[in-house]
Amino acid sequence: MAFALWVTGSSLSPLSRSSVPPGCDLTDLVSIKPRLAHAFPDPTLPNQRPSAHYEIKLMVFSGTCRCGHVTFESDCPPVMTTACHCVGCQKMSASAFSLTALFPAAAFAVTQGETVLGGLHGPTRHYFCAHCLTWLFTRPAGVDEYVGVRSSLLENPQHYRPFMETWTREKLPWVTTGASVSYEAFPDPQDYPALMSQFRAGDK
Ligand SMILES: [Zn+2]
Ligand SMILES: [Zn+2]
Repeated sequence: MAFALWVTGSSLSPLSRSSVPPGCDLTDLVSIKPRLAHAFPDPTLPNQRPSAHYEIKLMVFSGTCRCGHVTFESDCPPVMTTACHCVGCQKMSASAFSLTALFPAAAFAVTQGETVLGGLHGPTRHYFCAHCLTWLFTRPAGVDEYVGVRSSLLENPQHYRPFMETWTREKLPWVTTGASVSYEAFPDPQDYPALMSQFRAGDK
């Protein structure tokens, strides 16, 4: 397959690969937010058809904890961005809501440092920096395909405006997030494919 992505932001680093990483939907790659990247033909092969001799250059979505001991990255773009107003997120974030960029688990890795489990230590696993105890990311129970990364820890966090907000029934009354869609709790699981399509389509 034959796409390349380049990055207009200076702090995102390009990465070359010969194939699509596992868990990365190519439609996500080519529809990444235009202000971050654009799909384009490989300039070294100006006369090739897109299906023939292109390579994939992916940006890395990277982040750190407060102290910088833990670093992590995804080489796929997020499939969804959310804000969660539930009381559990309020307490764990010590703030009004949590922010999440949902990445394919196969594309996500901790690249440096030690993490520890925190929160309720239940089936949904919340990972924290072992040193500064920043809440880093969550692996939801029963959803092995995705990792919910706290988007305020990513480089260029301003790009991750929440598309969806959840648990508005527990929302602090003075909070507004600007999310495009709102749910009193979580959406039904069967709604996620359509929501992800809507997110990919550019309403981000
Ligand atoms: Zn830390
Ligand atoms: Zn929550």
